[in-house]
Amino acid sequence: MKLPVRYKIEDKDGKARAGVITTPHGEIKTPVFMPVGTQATVKTMSKEELLAIGSEIILGNTYHLYLRPNDELIARLGGLHKFMNWDKPILTDSGGFQVFSLGSLRKIKEEGVYFSSHIDGSKHFISPEKSIQIQNNLGSDIAMLFDECPPGLSTREYIIPSIERTTRWAKRCVEAHQKKGSQGLFAIVQGGIYEDLRQKSLDELSEMDENFSGYAIGGLAVGEPREDMYRILDYIVEKCPEEKPRYLMGVGEPVDMLNAVESGIDMMDCVQPTRLARHGTVFTKDGRLVIKSERYKEDTKPLDEECDCYVCKNYSRAYIRHLIKVQEVLGLRLTSYHNLYFLIKLMKDARRAIKEKRFKEFKENFIKRYENK
Ligand SMILES: [Zn+2]
Repeated sequence: MKLPVRYKIEDKDGKARAGVITTPHGEIKTPVFMPVGTQATVKTMSKEELLAIGSEIILGNTYHLYLRPNDELIARLGGLHKFMNWDKPILTDSGGFQVFSLGSLRKIKEEGVYFSSHIDGSKHFISPEKSIQIQNNLGSDIAMLFDECPPGLSTREYIIPSIERTTRWAKRCVEAHQKKGSQGLFAIVQGGIYEDLRQKSLDELSEMDENFSGYAIGGLAVGEPREDMYRILDYIVEKCPEEKPRYLMGVGEPVDMLNAVESGIDMMDCVQPTRLARHGTVFTKDGRLVIKSERYKEDTKPLDEECDCYVCKNYSRAYIRHLIKVQEVLGLRLTSYHNLYFLIKLMKDARRAIKEKRFKEFKENFIKRYENK
């Protein structure tokens, strides 16, 4: 059967790739940053604003949408696209990461994970089958396998049985998938910071390759040193199938993103840009800027003088600083808008640089300035 999500490489520069992912709700040009819409909304952003910043795909969150308003309700209302009025591609996570992050509120068993809701303490159970059923109900274009996410810097002794369980869960996810023709399924390669364990995880998942529309790299950016993340990416990404998209989960820091692209990553997501924005920190070509700082009190310049987003064309640092200081909602909207625009634009610029075979130079120039070297 033809997979519902497909990928085509257009150009390569070293290991970096520029390509196009085709989904039931349209195309995505890669490399791409995907804003996170945890609760069926990218915080503070309307659909029109997401389109204006050039967003081609967003994420939905299985754990949160299962608890509220519930996936069956969303299915009755026509699915997640219709519910939130977004007719472009959506990727849903499996809920695994959130459930595992609950710490003492959850218990991992072979059959799945028992947990208490962070909202009201009510008892729930998510298994591989349940996660896929929820994602089938949400009707995303890309669903993720329900995997176990070991904490950063876990030992080999912890990770080996965890990988083997993730492989057994992957088989159950594949079997439970009811929308094979309209919803792509991505595998998730685990293995911590150990090359051989990454290889083991990839080898085991590759045996089910005909079921997967893409491969994600999970379990990075979870507390390990940056050098370890880069080393693992450099090792494992090129070993994933060339003709399928590669997704690095949970990375949204500009320098990390460019390094990931250099390793051959096509897709990334992170709550970081909007979370930072709500706390008054914005990305600029010269590094992060903490807008609440006293020094911007009378600064009439835009957040980033080289940014051509709506916010930077219309509002000053002094005004946005004031809004954030007095906790006005518009302040959060403006900083969120700019930060998402910044990362989406960064990936568009990276794409152009790959096509023009000057990615390395582009990356080095960006980092030099961003890190004030
Ligand atoms: Zn801007």
